[in-house]
Amino acid sequence: MAVNIGVCISFLIVLVIILTYYNSKDKINNLDNRCFKKLVPITIFGLIIEAFIYFYAIFTDEMYILNIFVKLLYIYYVLWMYYFVLYGFVVFFDFEDIDDKKYKSLKKVLTIFYIIFFILSLVLPVEIELNDTYIYPKGVGTTFQYLAFSIGMACIMICGILNRKNFFKKQSIPLISSIVFGIICTVIQVVHIEFLFIVPSHAIAIVMMYFTIENPDLAMIEQLNIARDQADRANQSKSEFLSSMSHEIRTPLNAIVGFSQALQEENLPEQAEEEVKDIVRASESLLELVNGILDISKIEANKIEIVNGEYNIYEVLNDLVALSKARMGDKKLDFKPIFDKSIPPILYGDAVRVKQIILNLLTNAIKYTKEGEVIFRVSSIQNNSVCRLIISVEDTGIGIKKENIDQLFDKFQRLDLEKNKTIEGTGLGLAITKRLVDLMNGRIMVQSVYGKGSKFTVALDQGIIHKAPEQIKIENENNSSDIRDLTGKKVLIVDDNKLNLKVASRLIEKYNCEIKTIESGFECIDLIKSGEQFDIILMDDMMSNMSGVETFHKLKEIENFNIPVIALTANAISGMREKYLEEGFNDYLSKPIDKMELNKILNTYIKN
Ligand code: ADP
Repeated sequence: MAVNIGVCISFLIVLVIILTYYNSKDKINNLDNRCFKKLVPITIFGLIIEAFIYFYAIFTDEMYILNIFVKLLYIYYVLWMYYFVLYGFVVFFDFEDIDDKKYKSLKKVLTIFYIIFFILSLVLPVEIELNDTYIYPKGVGTTFQYLAFSIGMACIMICGILNRKNFFKKQSIPLISSIVFGIICTVIQVVHIEFLFIVPSHAIAIVMMYFTIENPDLAMIEQLNIARDQADRANQSKSEFLSSMSHEIRTPLNAIVGFSQALQEENLPEQAEEEVKDIVRASESLLELVNGILDISKIEANKIEIVNGEYNIYEVLNDLVALSKARMGDKKLDFKPIFDKSIPPILYGDAVRVKQIILNLLTNAIKYTKEGEVIFRVSSIQNNSVCRLIISVEDTGIGIKKENIDQLFDKFQRLDLEKNKTIEGTGLGLAITKRLVDLMNGRIMVQSVYGKGSKFTVALDQGIIHKAPEQIKIENENNSSDIRDLTGKKVLIVDDNKLNLKVASRLIEKYNCEIKTIESGFECIDLIKSGEQFDIILMDDMMSNMSGVETFHKLKEIENFNIPVIALTANAISGMREKYLEEGFNDYLSKPIDKMELNKILNTYIKN
């Protein structure tokens, strides 16, 4: 019996230390915590009673006092069982909080059940077997305790089986281990009544739970991780929503941009000409905003990939010069492109993103400079197969205040609004630029004198592709902005949206070619099978019944099919071009269709 007293006191010391430490810590107030908080002092109470019983049994054989202690021990068992079973429910079911209806009703049933056991523990007779080596309570009261234990354990296990998802989660391992351990100890206790097992087994379960799932620090970290995951998920859905909205907006915008651009080329009365110009400008800035949101949400959802491939850097630079000149419009700016001729022509990297980064800087320089000059410099440092492009865009514009430089790359951050009120912008351009530069392991730097001008410098490492000069294909030869006369040529446009068909036809009609429009992939296949010939097919990808990609693969199965097919899509994210080329399309055009891009495609693929 002295050994039993020693065991009780040892566990008592451990549990008092745990309770003190546990109470001194900040804790999350969730349901399992609440149950655990009650289980620790209850177990301490049980250990004290048990130690007293053994202690008393050594010195006296006055049964009525032992009887009172044994009754107290039974009350302990009932209390312990109640909170342990409740704890099991909480672990196996995902209750929201204390007000959760399911939790409330389960707790009610459990409370009634254990109150009955509590009363029975007090009134049912107990027999105590006492000799020199052990003391063992027997009788109906004891049997009832075992019954309460078995019912409690069975309830927890049924809960676990009903909610299998939670049965196998990390948190339930110590709980299940405690139950298994408790069952083994009870069986041993019944067979070897001289051993003391039940209350210490509870203490062991508490220690096990404390060091695995109920440690306040670990629980806090776990909760923080859960909160972070939830925030990440919410952010992800927000980004996905934004990107699908942007995609939806691009489709009608395609019509607005396309028709207004086409109207611009008509002979209109003076006032109408002005208004059309305003529509073009407004739709272009709306498109810029939509593209910006699409890009930033893709970047934040980690859906933007850098798609590397071979490209001709001089082609990219020439495009950028042409685009910048177009953006300057009537502004009297001196635009100076200065390119170091030693840059290797064929590089390996993501041309689309390199172009986007530089275009953002050039657009800003032009936007924020009223007069003076914009210098666009590109040089390189070469090291074996790596070419570090040093790109700088310098302007004599409004400049940026020193205190604003830090916020320059934050999204939706527009600076110096009193001066910029009349300049349209979203505050997304530089945020996207910075994130893209980071994705490409590059660097971006800003120097600016407020009122005098700014200089943005970007360093990007690109691979060098060594090619003999004759191998370098100059695609630029098809890049002229002249409208070719395509009389006698036939263009087929496939799109399930009537408005899109109208826009595309309007943009192509000035080439004087024959245009046929159809609204589905099935019609397209029938038409080609019927033997009708075309010089080019523009095929929308996102069609409802049969996608453009599916239609294209079916076309490929037709014997002798060799018409160039261009994918059309409102999904303008990076990597789309590569995706369509991989599918076998000849090229790709994003919607709203850019006049220059369309011209390039028609010049390249429609043979004389
Ligand atoms: P946006 O130009 O659409 O407002 P950006 O992210 O491209 O958004 O730029 C953020 C802010 O940085 C701009 O609102 C502007 O105040 C400032 N800024 C950017 N480039 C320049 C520049 N070249 N000169 C002066 N201010 C600039």
